[in-house]
Amino acid sequence: MADAEPISLVAKNPYELRVDLGARVSEGDVRAALASGDMGFLHSYTTGSAVDGPGVRVVAWTSGCMWRCRYCHNPDTWTMRNGYPVSVTQASEELRKYRQGLKVMSGGLTVSGGEPLMQHRFVLKLLNAAKGMGVHTTIETNGFLGDQLTDADFESIDLVMLGLKKWDPEAHKELTGREIGPTLTLARRLAARKRPIWVRFVLVPGLTDDRDDIKRIAEFAAGLGVVERVEVLPFHQMGRFKWKELGIKYHLEKTEAPTTEAAENACEVFRAAGLNAN
Ligand code: SF4
Repeated sequence: MADAEPISLVAKNPYELRVDLGARVSEGDVRAALASGDMGFLHSYTTGSAVDGPGVRVVAWTSGCMWRCRYCHNPDTWTMRNGYPVSVTQASEELRKYRQGLKVMSGGLTVSGGEPLMQHRFVLKLLNAAKGMGVHTTIETNGFLGDQLTDADFESIDLVMLGLKKWDPEAHKELTGREIGPTLTLARRLAARKRPIWVRFVLVPGLTDDRDDIKRIAEFAAGLGVVERVEVLPFHQMGRFKWKELGIKYHLEKTEAPTTEAAENACEVFRAAGLNAN
């Protein structure tokens, strides 16, 4: 694979539109990178995040996602070659710059996306490098490719932030393009190994705000016995411009953010199941 262009991996925020950064990487090189895990594709790094796991985090945003959530605010991460090709060494050295500060601020590294498990070998190598620096590790995943992780791999991940988006199977497929089953399987496997989970639930008026559906998600999450926290994330329109720029039909043009009361009601449903939700 040819050397990457010297552009900054660090983005001001994940809402920067980034496309075609790896466009000149051939299909064959993408496959080789995925197979070895020595090279991965990152949309960007952002630093100083207080909302992507415990403490203050460096977040590596991977590119590539097999889902097509209607409310996705980062559709530029769907295509792997929109990401910047980086070696594990490059990505680790970038992280190393922040390791002391992350420890002081009780933070760590979060690998998000996109969907990190699209490049599970690269991600595991990066997480292991982080652990080697004494840095706490988190992945944020939709869980669909959970079978790519062995139980031993779980030891490299201190916390899994798992997106639970909709309970009803048909509605889940309509919302994301994929089945919910593999996500639930990963959740059960993590629970069996007593690995901590934070659930992330995006509240979208008219799409995910059905109270009974939220209740089913809450009951499932509570039954796992390892969910430390549920984050109810109100839908917003900060990614709308990306859909437009990328020429993808956006179905939520007229959807508004949920009210504070609606978000609190959703939290209450999770709390009623015995979960810590906010
Ligand atoms: S799983 Fe995440 S990155 Fe993938 S489409 Fe859904 S919201 Fe977007």
